[in-house]
Amino acid sequence: MKSVIFRALIFLVILGCSTNEFQYKGEKQEARSKQEKICLLAINKVDSTLLEKLSTDLEKIFGQKIKVSQISLDLEFAYNPERKQYYSSAILEKLRNAGSEVGERVLGLVDVDLYVPDLNFVFGEADVVEKMAVISTKRLRQEYYGLPKDEELLLDRTIKESVHELGHTYGLEHCPDSNCVMYFSNSLQDTDFKSSSFCESCKRKLMLVKRLED
Ligand code: ZN
Ligand code: ZN
Repeated sequence: MKSVIFRALIFLVILGCSTNEFQYKGEKQEARSKQEKICLLAINKVDSTLLEKLSTDLEKIFGQKIKVSQISLDLEFAYNPERKQYYSSAILEKLRNAGSEVGERVLGLVDVDLYVPDLNFVFGEADVVEKMAVISTKRLRQEYYGLPKDEELLLDRTIKESVHELGHTYGLEHCPDSNCVMYFSNSLQDTDFKSSSFCESCKRKLMLVKRLED
């Protein structure tokens, strides 16, 4: 029974990435099949304006085609009732099974509080080997801290965390430069302080990996 559910979920993820595409405008509609290197997978409710802006920015930053898909996925399997949080590695594990079908990289987007065992929470997690990552918008929202909604700030933070986790999937490690997007964010202040760009050193490493992959 478990494996039937599991297969159904994998199918759902693959289906999400292959057919239920986000609609691009104008010239972006043209043939994208083989050039799609990053699949931005919105898991459950993610604002479509945020998704569109995020994909446009990621496309510019990584110089790769981004395919956006939206799927429904019951995240109960990753829920820890004691912590009232979701285990991000378990979510990654699910995405891992869809990876080879959908292109080289998958970035999952969720809106639930994520954790890994040794940390209070994580903004996201990446699997370098499988080139999979997941990030959450939950703690990037001002409302989470009892503050008024700020869509611009949410987008800015989501871009930084997305670029950071995708950076890991290109083999980039944490960077000591607090302005670099690969700097480890221990808090939201760190995220707000750093830029969404790679420092010169990280940029060089990224270019090298991309050249090897092409
Ligand atoms: Zn990191
Ligand atoms: Zn750097």
